[in-house]
Amino acid sequence: MIQQQPNDPNQPKPPDQIQEQPHQPPPPPEEPFRPPQDRYLMVPRLGPLSRSILVLGCGVGTSMAALLGVFLLNVLADENIMGLYANYVIPAGALLVGLAASSGYAFAAWFSGRKMSGPLLLTIVLLQILAYFGAQYLEYLANVAAGAPNMGFFAYFDMTTQSWAWKDKNGGVGQPLGKLGYLLRFGEIVGFTLGAILPPLALRGLPYCSLCERYMKTRQLAVLPAEAGPVEEMTSLAKARHLDGFADAVKGHQANKKANAKLGRRVTVKLIHCVQCSGGHLQFTLEEGSGQQIKHTQMGDVPLDPEFVRDVVDARPW
Ligand SMILES: [Zn+2]
Repeated sequence: MIQQQPNDPNQPKPPDQIQEQPHQPPPPPEEPFRPPQDRYLMVPRLGPLSRSILVLGCGVGTSMAALLGVFLLNVLADENIMGLYANYVIPAGALLVGLAASSGYAFAAWFSGRKMSGPLLLTIVLLQILAYFGAQYLEYLANVAAGAPNMGFFAYFDMTTQSWAWKDKNGGVGQPLGKLGYLLRFGEIVGFTLGAILPPLALRGLPYCSLCERYMKTRQLAVLPAEAGPVEEMTSLAKARHLDGFADAVKGHQANKKANAKLGRRVTVKLIHCVQCSGGHLQFTLEEGSGQQIKHTQMGDVPLDPEFVRDVVDARPW
């Protein structure tokens, strides 16, 4: 008995056609099959656990480097970055140190395609608080090694917290804050942790392809006047997979991008796509106002055929 050839998924044939020529091998494809992976520089894919370890490892690394920098500046230049406050209430220094400290989490997550999940974010927060106290402990050990009076860590922590004082503009040091120092200590920890979760939070807002487990790319295609005509034109060309028409429309709109960006009401069109599976969609956003008063309203997404996404990306009409 002759076994029926499996249907080729790339060139599906109706079953009756397969029946007619059972012994003929399928014709070779005109173009050699190139997996989409070959077309872009790819990060080697890691398993979910390895990626989590990579993200946490890189983040802890940059945190230690940032806190070491703080320590060295304190010792060598007598400059306490962590204690820099803007308007006496915003722990600007601690925020900046937190940002630098957590850059490793965000970069590693972006490069490895690790989704910034809630549990991972929580782990980062806990690790950053731990890193803060770890740094305090190391500072304590360094002080003991340097011959400071022997006291327990908590007594040292209490003493340093209560002896904080504001520096005045002439470089002089004011009265120690006493118990109020704990307010500054609290601000420092909050600022450091807040700074540390900002980059991971920003990453969480990026479009993500859960199929390929990687972050998607966003490309602004056009800024249109907020009128039905041009919006509908782009939508229907994309839905009809009319590559040439769509590319011409994008090219045309690119020329008017700057002028249209000054309009009070305008629609931005973004192509959001995965470089691996070419899954993607068009995102239409209504923007109103200018400067810091811009109001964004999502107008909805137009899902795209992966083949069309691949062709548009190859055509690069922007
Ligand atoms: Zn994908």
